[in-house]
Amino acid sequence: MKPHKIRIAIYPGSFDPITYGHIDIIKRACFLFDKVIIAVAVNPQKSPLFSQEERVDMIEKSITEFSGVQVDSFHGLLVEYAKEKDATAIIRGLRAVTDFENEMQMALVNRKLDENIVTTFLMTHDKYSYLNSSIVKELISLGGDAKCFVPLHVNKRLIEKLRKQ
Ligand code: ADP
Repeated sequence: MKPHKIRIAIYPGSFDPITYGHIDIIKRACFLFDKVIIAVAVNPQKSPLFSQEERVDMIEKSITEFSGVQVDSFHGLLVEYAKEKDATAIIRGLRAVTDFENEMQMALVNRKLDENIVTTFLMTHDKYSYLNSSIVKELISLGGDAKCFVPLHVNKRLIEKLRKQ
């Protein structure tokens, strides 16, 4: 009998910081794959609010209820990283149609680079369909409460980072 090959997926992103929208996608990815690697992108062109270590740490604290999920960071080409990890899929979340054009472009370029890695789009719960990390940062810096958008420990770190003088 052929041994069962475990299905590994990479969920890449900035996660600056992780929100309940991301966590919703992670939960759905866990239904489909044996192992999900959340990969924090180290992109020199972006200047994130949180360091790579802080982002990884916040993700780790947010996923304790899931099994088969790991957190890592990567730089360079995503498909190369995926190959290195023996992954067969890249997970991306879709919110509104506005996500579609960029996501399609990235997925098609990645397919051109490696046909064996399949980009898989997962749709978020509608209650998170308008949510992203930027709006949460804006909300906190204006004095708002983001507890319904991010885990408590993330909310606390956002307040420390954005409201300290
Ligand atoms: P990136 O800079 O790669 O877009 P993000 O952290 O903003 O990094 O997003 C990572 C992935 O998570 C993307 O596929 C994005 O569409 C998805 N995502 C972010 N927020 C949500 C949300 N509220 N619902 C569903 N997917 C989301």
